[in-house]
Amino acid sequence: MTALLEARNVTKVFGSGGLFKRQETPALENVSLFIRESPLSITGVVGESGSGKTTLVRLLLGFLAPAEGEVLYKGRDLQKMSRDERLEFRREVQVIFQDPFEVYNPFYKVDHVLTTPVTKFHLARSKSEARKLIEDALEVIGLRPEETLGRYPHQLSGGQRQRIMVARASLLRPRIILADEPVSMVDASLRATILESLRKLSQKFDMSLLYITHDLTTAYQISDSIIVLYQGSVVEVGDVELVIKNPQHPYTRLLVASIPVSDPDRSWGQDSTPVLVSKTSTKLNRGCKFVDRCPFAMSICRENPPPFFQTDGYRAVRCYLYKEASVIADETMEKALGQKG
Ligand code: SF4
Repeated sequence: MTALLEARNVTKVFGSGGLFKRQETPALENVSLFIRESPLSITGVVGESGSGKTTLVRLLLGFLAPAEGEVLYKGRDLQKMSRDERLEFRREVQVIFQDPFEVYNPFYKVDHVLTTPVTKFHLARSKSEARKLIEDALEVIGLRPEETLGRYPHQLSGGQRQRIMVARASLLRPRIILADEPVSMVDASLRATILESLRKLSQKFDMSLLYITHDLTTAYQISDSIIVLYQGSVVEVGDVELVIKNPQHPYTRLLVASIPVSDPDRSWGQDSTPVLVSKTSTKLNRGCKFVDRCPFAMSICRENPPPFFQTDGYRAVRCYLYKEASVIADETMEKALGQKG
């Protein structure tokens, strides 16, 4: 199976300080990701602030070059693309950012963000064809063109502005949309609607979706498979039902146990063992990054970084609690998930 978008053992390090006191902080370490060509898939990437989510998005968009590893689109290294290949990439890989307001120019009507890609990519032969294209895109995501077009950004709600961004991304009929915290600045009541719009678009136009979020609830709602990031490393990856209903890595258990549940009889995790939370240690350790927060820590956890252990057909966990399971290479599990039907 060929990959549409793939990260192979990607590491990104940021430096700070002067020439002689330079400190290097890894934002991402050895992260792999595999989005197949078809059929479409929806992958959630979950992690708290500082987990490396934003760096991952910027690497996948080619805004940053990895220090190690490579990011490939249709088998071509993003950093070595020709001008034409890059143009194709820019059209086929669209992004929706967290704060739609930043994308709008307050002096232009919202029409501007929709007409710009139509003009830039020559999507219509006439003004009326462009108008029809834009109206169709708005209607697909449940916005009425007559109530949306002709208005300024401040005249629309945050939810409407973000849905226009979804419509804008869909205009180009991309192969994949990277949605970076698309609902985190939207009222809770509208989150489900926007996510449903994204899911519908994904199915209607056969587009894959990479949904990046700190919110496990919405990731569960929309994703087929999930990647859990902690301090720049993938700690658990697998089928979303397996990971959320029976989380295995102590950090994933902590995330799942933290989800507010309205129905006291309903539980997200079968095993929601509370995990003691201490402040993240600033000490560098050679072993597991979660060791200072983990109530199950063993001596080996401080000595060597845990590899991935494959605990189910479609799940791997970076934790010595599962050392009886087979060790699996990071990219192998990603590929297995990518090939899952
Ligand atoms: Fe905890 Fe050790 Fe597993 Fe890390 S490897 S999560 S410290 S048990």
